[in-house]
Amino acid sequence: MDQKEKNPVKEKHFLMDQQDKKIREQLSKIRYKIMVMSGKGGVGKSTVSVNVAIGLSLQDFMVGLLDVDLHGPNIPKMLGARDLKLSRKPDGKIGAIKYSPNLKFLSIEPLLPSEDAAVIWRGPLKHSAIRQFIGDIDWGELDYLVIDAPPGTGDEPLTVAKTIPDAYALIVTTPQEVSLIDVKKSIRFCQKTKMRILGIVENMSGFICPHCGKPIDLFKKGGGEKLAQELGLRFLGRIPIDPRVVDTGDTGRPFIAAYPESPTAKAFEELIRKIISATEEMERDVLEGRYMRVAIPVDTPPNKMEADINKADMYAIYDIENGKILVKDVIKKPENQDLLDFLKEQVATHIILFNPPKELADYLSDNGIIILLTDSPQEAPDNLINELIKVQNQ
Ligand code: ADP
Repeated sequence: MDQKEKNPVKEKHFLMDQQDKKIREQLSKIRYKIMVMSGKGGVGKSTVSVNVAIGLSLQDFMVGLLDVDLHGPNIPKMLGARDLKLSRKPDGKIGAIKYSPNLKFLSIEPLLPSEDAAVIWRGPLKHSAIRQFIGDIDWGELDYLVIDAPPGTGDEPLTVAKTIPDAYALIVTTPQEVSLIDVKKSIRFCQKTKMRILGIVENMSGFICPHCGKPIDLFKKGGGEKLAQELGLRFLGRIPIDPRVVDTGDTGRPFIAAYPESPTAKAFEELIRKIISATEEMERDVLEGRYMRVAIPVDTPPNKMEADINKADMYAIYDIENGKILVKDVIKKPENQDLLDFLKEQVATHIILFNPPKELADYLSDNGIIILLTDSPQEAPDNLINELIKVQNQ
């Protein structure tokens, strides 16, 4: 192969690396990332995303709201902010659109030629558009990034899960049986992509009679809570139906700001309180060892630990919560990928090593990976994990 043929490939790798670097830099400035998802459309996912983002920003958090629904972006309409445009900052960077001093948002809509433009996106195009939304747009320092993903488990949620591996999933459902079946699909998606679940919200849960103020259960109630209990997930609350939600969404006045005294706005406030405490709790779980994602270098086929870290290219990854293994996976580390980058991509919190070079151990622990040392490098990874859980439970 002559030089001319080789270069484009190299260049492409270089560009990918640059993009990855920019994405990582941006994400490191955002404390909590929440992907709002639902099994199917129409359950109120965008309504929840908008009201949660507004509610958090009203509590003085710095918030970003990212609409990754490339087919039907409706966040600008719901915010009443269709006229706001992207702006270039003095340093040349493009900033997310400023909605209020504490809230920025971004959607594909302002970038489309006309608001009704039919958009046909193929998977790879969606993937790169979403990555650009995160890497090329300056979000600045944020406490929360709320991501409104389209319903289902297609390209967009998958790209978000891969690009923002430490995003938490907030699953929105309605009380009917069919929606609850869809929730199970969303949960399976999270397990497959190893996304931690923040909890379940039941929207359109009961109706408060505007005349007598009493709740009426239009579509039954409580299914989401029961399911959360069954699956050991947090139930973050139920939002009652209020017909004014439709009107406020259509006219671009976020509901919690328009009708703050209504039971539905109060329910949103309660949801926001629970989201704040759940995100903090999930962060503490990692720091205090109740939640771990442990990587172990393994040989091929993965029978036992690979004692020599320089030889390892396969890693067994275990998700452990409160002493129980939730998910186990074996993943190949790409040949040229730095070990730290790989661990960050896997959102690993710990790695088990045998006699690691000091430089490597320092590098990993300086970057937030907790190192667990073993003196039994010939063990099967399952045994090492069971031993770790035993020690933790003592
Ligand atoms: P999704 O993003 O899941 O497709 P939307 O947020 O667009 O759903 O909501 C679908 C419709 O239901 C919208 O017209 C919205 O105004 C309405 N809606 C959502 N939540 C409520 C609620 N709690 N009470 C009344 N209407 C609601």
